[in-house]
Amino acid sequence: MTSTVFKGSFTQQEPIPEEAIARAVDVMRSGRLHRYNVVDGEESETSLLEREYAEYLGVKYCLACASGGYAMHVALRASGVQKDQPVLTNAFTLSPVPGAIDNVGGRPVLVESTPDLVIDLADLERKIKASGSRMLLLSHMRGHLVDMHALCELLERHGVALIEDCAHTMGAAWDGRKSGLFGVAACFSTQTYKHINSGEGGFVTTDDAELMARAVILSGSYMLYERHGAAPPAEAFRDARLDYPNYSGRMDNLRAAILRPQLRLLEHNRERWNDRYRALEEALRDTPGLRVPQRPAAETYVGSSFQFLVEADSGVAVPVLLEACRARGVEMKWFGASEPTAYTSRHDSWRYVAPQQLPKTDRILDGLCDLRIPLTFSVDDCSLIGTIIRSVFEEIRDARGGRARAS
Ligand SMILES: *Cc1c(COP(=O)(O)O)cnc(C)c1O
Repeated sequence: MTSTVFKGSFTQQEPIPEEAIARAVDVMRSGRLHRYNVVDGEESETSLLEREYAEYLGVKYCLACASGGYAMHVALRASGVQKDQPVLTNAFTLSPVPGAIDNVGGRPVLVESTPDLVIDLADLERKIKASGSRMLLLSHMRGHLVDMHALCELLERHGVALIEDCAHTMGAAWDGRKSGLFGVAACFSTQTYKHINSGEGGFVTTDDAELMARAVILSGSYMLYERHGAAPPAEAFRDARLDYPNYSGRMDNLRAAILRPQLRLLEHNRERWNDRYRALEEALRDTPGLRVPQRPAAETYVGSSFQFLVEADSGVAVPVLLEACRARGVEMKWFGASEPTAYTSRHDSWRYVAPQQLPKTDRILDGLCDLRIPLTFSVDDCSLIGTIIRSVFEEIRDARGGRARAS
């Protein structure tokens, strides 16, 4: 067992379903790839997707657009965030989040996270008071949901609006309420490594007619906003169509066509992801020196990635663990690396953001390891991966302990 090597690829997603491929071929045969290019009486794939996503989530309005990062930019702008305004966000997130805030000219105010990888509500309250910010762009980073009732109560008390970044919580819920239904707007990504895959893509969702009218105009609708499946009636656009610029970032029919059948598989796939997540959790829980985040009973999560913390006093250096796991075919990311690598970067490498002290988050990131769980892995694969990590971890930890005793 100690020498077993895992052979799977951590970046290999499942193929696009055949039904989705067939639809994409139909779109290509039609030649009408642009979302507003319809024949009389036709509704475009993009418009149908918006309708279906709004219905799935249980919101009035949905805009499909070019990416998740673009969706956040548009949602912030459509919510009225102005140049130089402070916008709260968690420091533990990926770079498109501060990027979206920067894109509207906002100033990111970074908030600490807890060892369970959710936003630290006490620090949030301190920073609301200190910054005077009236907007939180909250990343449900790696799918971990904070107590949404406590968060909403806190935000309401201070008059702070919420935009949810649901890039990792499409298909998730808190206390039975879907992630994306807690704020003034929510943003989703359909990029390859998220929960439905169109290469690139995103959604903005909201119940606010004015906000959606602005978002649609911003996305580059020209005066064709009536060709949206889940947008407010034309009256809502009276001012927005003249007051807001065109930041061209539409979705096209090809991507919409391959997303529609995948949307119907989302909840089924959530269970498949969670079977794999639990296999990893099972293999790694109760390992002294290694902490697996607690998942609260109120949280319905989508376990498309797995995190654990190497405790500082375990004596295990994360780079050593990563290297030894890599040699056994297990590819992990480390959020604590000082240099940004691949998709992972720390807040102190975002040099366009004013430097901020986040000692709690830094301590957590120092030990934070992360694995993707593509659905091409079987549950047994995940058990094997967990067993490899555990045995490598214990070997390093015990070797160190041995030296300590000997000296
Ligand atoms: C991927 C991601 C986004 C943005 O998605 P893109 O579609 O790649 O722009 C936003 N937030 C988080 C936390 C993400 O991981």
